[in-house]
Amino acid sequence: MAQVITAHKETRTSKRLSEELSRLVPGGVNSPFRTFDEVGGHTIFFRKALGSRIYDVDGNEYVDYLGAWGPAVLGYAHPDIVMACQRVLKDGLVFGAPCELELEFARAITNAIPTLEQVRFVNSGTEAVMSAVRLARGVTGRDKVIMFEGGYHGHSDATLASSKHASSKGVPAGTSNDTILVEYNNLEALASELAVSGEQVACVLVEPVAGSMNVVVPDRTFLAGMRELCTKYGALLIFDEVLTGFRVHLAGAQGHFNVSPDLTCFGKALAGGMPVGAYGGSAAIMSELQPIGKVYQAGTFSGNPVTMAGGIETIRLLSNPAVFETLNERSAQFIGGLKNIATKNGYPVQFPNLNAMFGICFSADPVRNYSDSLKIDSAAYAKFFHYLLREGIYLPPSSVDAACISAVHTTEEIEFTLSVCASAFEKIW
Ligand SMILES: *Cc1c(COP(=O)(O)O)cnc(C)c1O
Repeated sequence: MAQVITAHKETRTSKRLSEELSRLVPGGVNSPFRTFDEVGGHTIFFRKALGSRIYDVDGNEYVDYLGAWGPAVLGYAHPDIVMACQRVLKDGLVFGAPCELELEFARAITNAIPTLEQVRFVNSGTEAVMSAVRLARGVTGRDKVIMFEGGYHGHSDATLASSKHASSKGVPAGTSNDTILVEYNNLEALASELAVSGEQVACVLVEPVAGSMNVVVPDRTFLAGMRELCTKYGALLIFDEVLTGFRVHLAGAQGHFNVSPDLTCFGKALAGGMPVGAYGGSAAIMSELQPIGKVYQAGTFSGNPVTMAGGIETIRLLSNPAVFETLNERSAQFIGGLKNIATKNGYPVQFPNLNAMFGICFSADPVRNYSDSLKIDSAAYAKFFHYLLREGIYLPPSSVDAACISAVHTTEEIEFTLSVCASAFEKIW
């Protein structure tokens, strides 16, 4: 196998910077996902991220499978997206008033996602989900929200209860009183819960492929059955497609599974790396938002021209069927290769995936829900992570989060990654 990356010298500058940043920014990270607490060691500081490669401050280069946690579906800093942003950048960063690009981006996203008649643009996935839940409560006049154990829906009070961060201090006890948690992939549990509290439930909020208890692709009947139950009890079905959207399929997981939610949330891959969120659904539901309806949601930076330009270009690029074909081919090459290595050697590791969303799951058995995910061997993952890091491959510093591949990863890079993974597994077991 040709050497794609030269093995690493050192990461001394990163170590120093992480110590210095820790004095000014809690834990040295502006988002706790980025810490190396689980895998050990200090964080790596990056200077450049282009295509499938990232470059650290010590001059090391990596093939990247973090994908910035989702956005880099077309690779980092896709030249067409950068150019689209640069074109509008010089005419202003923010207007605080409507611009034509909002119309163009709204057209693009509503064309790509058939369940969206109307959309609101916000600035992050957290904002999108938080707003969609408020809208569901406003529309139904009900308070309770059903979520699934081990889900992640951003860091708002209303949605934190489902995640492994549910123990966060600072969330009022009252918030969780209106939250009902059900086991993921368990349609019977959802049915019994709705049979009891259905009349009070504003919405069922779900990741159509779970991405924070490693990757869990649900059983075929789970989402379709959930759709029927929501209709029966008058609860809105909200798909949190912040991670799956514009990654597993152009029309999201809903397009792949052919299940129509009432509201959908997007973020991450939607604007090719620009900070964005969006939520949408039918005109009837969306028109409950102010200024026409009575549900409030706002944002100074929402719909800013630079983000809109990045988003328009992203959807334009992704709408070329060849792009998703390549993305899915590369994903299949990588996941297929990993599965071959594991099967041949009987390694206790799983590679759950739906197209370009995948997990490297250090578990002897498939993970179907949160309690299964607690059996993931975090120590083995840490060894794997650091072995790959030294060889020039960057993964999420977490055994329970999804990894990402892009449409610009080359077959050579994937072959290289597979050979490094094979030696890493050999070292671990
Ligand atoms: C990342 C993520 C969020 C939060 O999005 P942010 O942009 O980080 O606020 C919400 N839901 C899911 C499923 C996510 O993966």
